[in-house]
Amino acid sequence: MDPSERFTEVTGPKNGIKVTIDNEYCKGCTVCVEVCPVDALQMEPVGTRWQGSVVIVSDIEACIGCMLCELQCPDFAIDVVKPEKKKGKAKPKAEAAG
Ligand code: SF4
Ligand code: SF4
Repeated sequence: MDPSERFTEVTGPKNGIKVTIDNEYCKGCTVCVEVCPVDALQMEPVGTRWQGSVVIVSDIEACIGCMLCELQCPDFAIDVVKPEKKKGKAKPKAEAAG
């Protein structure tokens, strides 16, 4: 990653999930890496940053969009956006009998 950039944005070509890291807000606490169930995130040492490291998205295609990282980050430094479901002919909900 380029630490001079404020945001790092990664989008999975296949799963369409977009994860954005705020490199300024991320304090390198590793909480997101620990909660991610699929090891899609990892810490990267960045010597020029006061916090010593920032999180990077190491495997975007592994991401399942569970949002745990975003919800657990104490600094609102990670944002997950899942692709919108394609609008099609939605199946009508089964109507109550009667
Ligand atoms: S939980 Fe937030 S502050 Fe901590 S490493 Fe992850 S993105 Fe950075
Ligand atoms: S949304 Fe879930 S699977 Fe994706 S990086 Fe965050 S914690 Fe990991």
